[in-house]
Amino acid sequence: MELLERAISEKGTVLPGNVLKVGSIINNQIDISLMCAMADEACSRFKDKGVTKVLTVEASGIAFAVLIAERLKVDAVFAKKSKTSNVEGEVYSARCYSYTHRKENTLIIPKEYLGSADNVLIADDFLANGEAVSALLDMANRAGARVVGAAIAVEKGFQGGGDRLRAKGLEVFSLAVIDSMDGGKIVFRKDK
Ligand code: 5GP
Repeated sequence: MELLERAISEKGTVLPGNVLKVGSIINNQIDISLMCAMADEACSRFKDKGVTKVLTVEASGIAFAVLIAERLKVDAVFAKKSKTSNVEGEVYSARCYSYTHRKENTLIIPKEYLGSADNVLIADDFLANGEAVSALLDMANRAGARVVGAAIAVEKGFQGGGDRLRAKGLEVFSLAVIDSMDGGKIVFRKDK
């Protein structure tokens, strides 16, 4: 998506450890007109798939997921990274190594929010090694839900997570795919 690629090129910076900082548009401050255009683009791919829930992980995936859910007229559900006092009852949980926090989290979704009647669209801001999407997929599968695909804002293609998920049959639609960030130079995949 040209608009997103341009914004990343102009405002993104590459931090040590191949972490792309896009705090001014996605992760701390949200560029709402850009994010709305991103949600429109994601919906153009998944609007006819009968989605009933958009599923993401707190915190950075929520804005993208909510705007997609609003357009599809369904609810968004987000997995928490720890069991807080306002989570009660039975939960689905899955271990997930956080690339940016460099620690293992246990993602949690209360069972009441995901069920066998659901057609789930996974959404997230970034896809790197695929840990977060795999954990969401795992919980949706255990709920008996059907996963129609994953809408990703930025895929770091060089980490291979997206292609591994595609090889397993998941439809992964990424708005921007980065093939390399060597020396701080961001190179986008042309034919995706
Ligand atoms: P994965 O689980 O696919 O390895 O990593 C995806 C998750 O890690 C996303 O939910 C995102 O929050 C975070 N993440 C991974 N790489 C980056 C990055 O380069 N920049 C930012 N801002 N977040 C990232």
